[in-house]
Amino acid sequence: MIIDGKKTAEELRQVLKNNIAQLKSNFNTVPGLTVILVGEDPASKIYVKNKEKFSNEVGINSEVLRYPENVEEKVVLSKIKELNKNKKTSGILVQLPLPKHIRKRKVIETILPDKDVDGFHPMNVGNLSSGYESSIPCTPLGCYLLIKNVEKNLSGKHAVIIGRSNLNGKPMAQLLLKENCTVTITHSKTKDLKAECKRADIIIAAVGKPRLVKGNWVKKGAIVIDVGINKTETGIVGDVDFDEVSKIAKAITPVPGGVGPMTIACLLKNTIECFKRANS
Ligand code: NAP
Repeated sequence: MIIDGKKTAEELRQVLKNNIAQLKSNFNTVPGLTVILVGEDPASKIYVKNKEKFSNEVGINSEVLRYPENVEEKVVLSKIKELNKNKKTSGILVQLPLPKHIRKRKVIETILPDKDVDGFHPMNVGNLSSGYESSIPCTPLGCYLLIKNVEKNLSGKHAVIIGRSNLNGKPMAQLLLKENCTVTITHSKTKDLKAECKRADIIIAAVGKPRLVKGNWVKKGAIVIDVGINKTETGIVGDVDFDEVSKIAKAITPVPGGVGPMTIACLLKNTIECFKRANS
């Protein structure tokens, strides 16, 4: 089974659109998302454009604030503080990466946790790891929803996560622990990655290494989620060797068209959740 992330994301956006129509009739206003983009990074510009497009499509009031590469950190921080106080702004997202002179940590910690639609604020990270309600980083949340679509009951499954970033691997582990999976987090210093993967019922690859996970690394019937986006001479590929692994896995996400579309849909979901919490 090839997991169709595009279709699942479309279905999720339809649900969110209906949610927003309901919220509009209840509160006479809609959720607002402000995205801050600093500089001219081509990939960031595409991501932000898509975030704006899909926000508008579901009925979120979205705005993008663009700053030049050399903007001073204090300008960005003071804009975030202003947005923190603005009732019309339900969610704030600062597109990463930031230029070197702007401290990523300082920026993330300046966003009010209740408006942190990326789920990167330490308060949200702590809440997620404590099993409390929080904003959940969009990509792992998207992976989680795709896995749950394939298999409802994950209790007792062995999940192997490749990559331990704050963005992907660590929050993914928390989500799967909450589902009673036995979770192994692997990384660049892991001794025998192939052996670890071979034992997995679920593999989540978030590495950034083209086609790292081979067919003979995967147990028959495993669910394989490929987060990787790698530019190669033959185009964009994931961290999983799709041709080999798709013959063995029970379900696998393609790249592109798997996790990517879910990431943006989950950003919209998080924005709505922030709005609901602010109005409850
Ligand atoms: P990252 O911060 O660079 O982290 C990569 C992780 O992979 C690190 O933990 C690193 O280990 C580990 N790693 C590197 N080489 C390895 C190896 N040979 N064996 C095992 N582990 C290894 O990356 P990220 O931000 O999590 O992103 C990972 C990938 O996902 C990238 O391709 C990125 O473009 C993609 N991505 C996709 C989406 C989407 O929406 N689909 C969203 C975000 C990111 P150490 O910690 O030991 O260095």
